[in-house]
Amino acid sequence: MAARILDGKSIAAEIQAELGEEIAGLIQHNGLVPCLAAVLVGEDPASDVYVRHKRKACQRVGIESQLHRLPAETSEDDLLALVSQLNKDPAVHGILVQLPLPAGLDGTRVLDAIHPLKDVDAFHPENVGRISQGRPRFLPCTPHGIQQLLSRCQLPVAGKQVVIVGRSEIVGKPLAMMLASRDSTCGPAFANATVTLCHSQTANLATVTRSADVLVAAIGRPAMITAEMVQPGATVIDVGINRTDDGLVGDVDFDAVAEVAGAITPVPGGVGPLTVAMLMFNTLAAARMSI
Ligand code: NDP
Repeated sequence: MAARILDGKSIAAEIQAELGEEIAGLIQHNGLVPCLAAVLVGEDPASDVYVRHKRKACQRVGIESQLHRLPAETSEDDLLALVSQLNKDPAVHGILVQLPLPAGLDGTRVLDAIHPLKDVDAFHPENVGRISQGRPRFLPCTPHGIQQLLSRCQLPVAGKQVVIVGRSEIVGKPLAMMLASRDSTCGPAFANATVTLCHSQTANLATVTRSADVLVAAIGRPAMITAEMVQPGATVIDVGINRTDDGLVGDVDFDAVAEVAGAITPVPGGVGPLTVAMLMFNTLAAARMSI
């Protein structure tokens, strides 16, 4: 294996240790305990696991967490009423509605109902708009985690070709905006990239991905990125989390691509733990904004 393995798990632990110290200071000096309210509707096992990871992380860094578990048959009005109650509760600083919602519930309507100052996932149109204008309030957790990973592994992107495969509202699109911006929370070296955003209609995908100095896969298709699609020496960031008979796998054919790439994130233990760490970061930021 040629590639350097980018250990997201240990970087996430480092970030959480830093946050833990800041939170202890906030509690000591302001008497304020940050609080994240998670809303989980229905019985999706993967969502259950994600929420459990997020609550454990809260416990580790000193954030209080609430879990509001609702049955799959919950009406949209009842869900919106809960969001409204959490919006008004001064003890709650961040609200997280775990996706996907059961069929029949309009995710966009529910996410739009979260108060922008408590929108720790950064999905609200006001927060997305602020990112596109280069004056973010919250950054979405997965893209921010990727930027932190690049920064802490000293892999600057300024002036580089970054190719992102996947244009979702939660990963690909905001990451493209952030990496193409003039500056970032990690400094200008971790922005100012030349970004290409690919999707299912992209022609000659392999030709485009082979042009990447940094290739990000956020597709949701096991091992779709093969060694032939990667420029030798490139940094490869695998966002995918796919449940297969062989367990959890990413969107990148890890063993083959690791022979070609210069650096690569594993699945699990790559981007996933950073997503959770940046949710803690946003909850602390939301608590500070409430002072
Ligand atoms: P979406 O399903 O919302 O988006 C997938 C994207 O991939 C779409 O833009 C789609 O294109 C594109 N795509 C699908 N097939 C192809 C193809 N053959 N060629 C090129 N592009 C294609 O996914 P998400 O962004 O929500 O998630 C992507 C993956 O990342 C999933 O495995 C998810 O579980 C994982 N994930 C991991 C996180 C983490 O913390 N590690 C956090 C969030 C997600 P089009 O738009 O044209 O349909």
